[in-house]
Amino acid sequence: MNVFESVESEVRSYSRGWPVVFDRGTGSWLYDEDGNAYLDFFAGAGALNYGHNNPVLKHALVDYIMRDGVTHSLDMQTVAKRDFLETFTDVVLGQRNLDYKIMFPGPAGANAVEAALKLARKVTGRESIINFTNAFHGMTLGALSVTGNSMKRGGAGIPLVHATPMPYDNYLDGKVEDFLWFERLLEDSGSGLNEPAAVIVETVQGEGGINVARDEWLRGLADLCKRHDILLIVDDVQMGCGRTGPFFSFESAGITPDIVCLSKSIGGYGLPLALTLFRPDLDIWEPGEHNGTFRGINPAFVASTEALRTYWRDDKLEKSTLAKGEQVERVMTELAQVHPGTPMFAKGRGLARGLSFETGELATKVCRAAFDRGLLMETSGPDGEVAKVMPPLTVTDEELADGLDRLTAAVNQVCA
Ligand code: PLP
Repeated sequence: MNVFESVESEVRSYSRGWPVVFDRGTGSWLYDEDGNAYLDFFAGAGALNYGHNNPVLKHALVDYIMRDGVTHSLDMQTVAKRDFLETFTDVVLGQRNLDYKIMFPGPAGANAVEAALKLARKVTGRESIINFTNAFHGMTLGALSVTGNSMKRGGAGIPLVHATPMPYDNYLDGKVEDFLWFERLLEDSGSGLNEPAAVIVETVQGEGGINVARDEWLRGLADLCKRHDILLIVDDVQMGCGRTGPFFSFESAGITPDIVCLSKSIGGYGLPLALTLFRPDLDIWEPGEHNGTFRGINPAFVASTEALRTYWRDDKLEKSTLAKGEQVERVMTELAQVHPGTPMFAKGRGLARGLSFETGELATKVCRAAFDRGLLMETSGPDGEVAKVMPPLTVTDEELADGLDRLTAAVNQVCA
């Protein structure tokens, strides 16, 4: 028994699917302690959009550390934080005509979600939140209450309340008019639905099975929220920072959420950083009303600023993500055609892609066969039925083709 098995909690999960000891990472590659190379099409569940130890970000970080730049600062004013705030405002918000206040809610995605829910309740004076089927928003109690997965919800140990799930796009196979049920409940004073403070939504459900909401559906949702005076929260923790192409995943729908949650790749280098963005008029927090020790991890500000300057001053990364995503989709669609005896279909947007099988067992076998070929990918969906592909956005054309060859070989083996 190794130290991970003897000492680390049974709660560990990724290490079970990939039972090697990783030591180094560079770009799209991870290396284990024996020097074996793995193409990483998992990318820290979306935290490594710019790859492992991206050299541009690394130099900025090393310089900052070597000059004794402040590492930890709660929410004090630092040079690194000022650079980040100015760059984010200029490169991300300004170019998109978005006017948001920026809150640092704590380092994880769940912190960004908790702050968003709290603020929506404080602003509206209402308790209830609308979430969607198969949503995933994190593991803290507030975030879990708006998460769908029953196994994860079960871990709470207390009732998860004040949230009502509605069908996500296509949940009813397109047979029912969008928002028919939701709108009916809102308009019927006898429905039993408490007036909601907010709706929280992912544009693509990363953990829930790479379920994509159509732009048209998102516009319908934004419109419904406006008409009923409900705040719209987009949780862009996994799909933001370019995962679906544009910096924010909601850009293609042309909507402007009231509140946005960001984390994962906003730290640039895999360093913890999260933001909750909101309309300036919603900024009714009292000083210190929501705080936390790790809201100012300056190396994350440094890496984030460098990533924004390097990758988001033009639309090159966005375009290449969209093109590469189409390539993944083509290969997945071909696989489905080649194996009519094993029903599967491709889903996703940008470089968040999935191959959906009829059972979780099949998707797990594909991920295992991929691992045997040196390709890291995980399953997603309520039964783990989707083999999920999320390479770093900086993956080269050769690496992408190589990974897709490995995926093809894995699927061919499982479906033989
Ligand atoms: N929201 C979404 C959409 C996520 O995908 C995740 C994590 O996968 C979270 C929130 C929670 O983020 P964290 O694990 O950093 O708390």
